[in-house]
Amino acid sequence: MLSVIIPAYNEETNIKNTADTVCSLLKNADIDCELIFVDDGSKDKTYLKICDSAQENPNVRGISFSRNFGKEAAIFAGLEEAAGDCAVILDCDLQFPPEKIIEMYSLWQKGYEVVEGVKRDRGNESFFYKIFAKSFYKIISRFVGVDMQSTSDFKLIDRKAIDALLSLPERNTFFRALSFWSGFNSVQVEFSVSERKNGKSKWTIGKLIKYAVSSITSFTTAPLQLITVIGSILLVFMAVLGVQTLVRFMLGHSAEGFTTVILLLLLVGGSLMMALGIIGYYIARIYEEVKGRPRYIISKRTENKK
Ligand code: UDP
Ligand code: MG
Repeated sequence: MLSVIIPAYNEETNIKNTADTVCSLLKNADIDCELIFVDDGSKDKTYLKICDSAQENPNVRGISFSRNFGKEAAIFAGLEEAAGDCAVILDCDLQFPPEKIIEMYSLWQKGYEVVEGVKRDRGNESFFYKIFAKSFYKIISRFVGVDMQSTSDFKLIDRKAIDALLSLPERNTFFRALSFWSGFNSVQVEFSVSERKNGKSKWTIGKLIKYAVSSITSFTTAPLQLITVIGSILLVFMAVLGVQTLVRFMLGHSAEGFTTVILLLLLVGGSLMMALGIIGYYIARIYEEVKGRPRYIISKRTENKK
């Protein structure tokens, strides 16, 4: 059986359409499926719509978070909930073409354990968003060692990979990169991003920056190494200046160089603060992980059983 996991945050206008489209599509292709909607603490009637769909259609189930825990948490809740032999993550706005699921499913039947959906283009995104996304993926690709330029959360993963991901003890995850990291036999499927069906994107710039920073720090300690590199460069720089200052002192003109002092103070002070900030961020992450709080809290679930 195939589990389709659909994170939904304030998507009341999309639930019914998504459920019907995906169900009939998979029914026509003769694929046994279940749809799991994860209501990520929506403030609108998303959960009610999920309940309606669940009542109409026994293949639809839903869980609801007590508050907004983010898409990442919603994906993991869906994986936890999934009963299928493989699962696919689909956006509720149908920006990932559901027809592709059939292609992914047949690749899975051929023995691939992870089928990655890769964006052929980035759809209709704003200029700022495009630049931001591009540089973000450049950085993360370098760290992860895989080209992530066009990856998405649209993936089909086998039961083995689901169990592997669920067994990871960490709370701060980055699903997109983790499926690469898990190293299962994978294959890519290209798709083009379509327009959002209803409503608007749930991402704000603030949320995106937070997501980017948390993804990078959850995946790599490279920023910490960067501090060491900057420190070493500064040290060389300071050695040169130190020698120069000493020589000038011996020659008897030590009162000059006020500008240099100010600039140095600013530079060193600034980099120290930045370094402390980065270290502090990692300590905060350790603190969060050590607390061991759950990734999400489920407050409601529909009656349909697995
Ligand atoms: N989403 C979520 N929690 C959030 C934000 C988004 O579950 O805090 C879901 C949302 O309902 C949608 C998917 O994640 O199904 C992708 O969100 P969106 O379409 O807003 O992002 P975009 O396509 O613009 O990247
Ligand atoms: Mg979208």
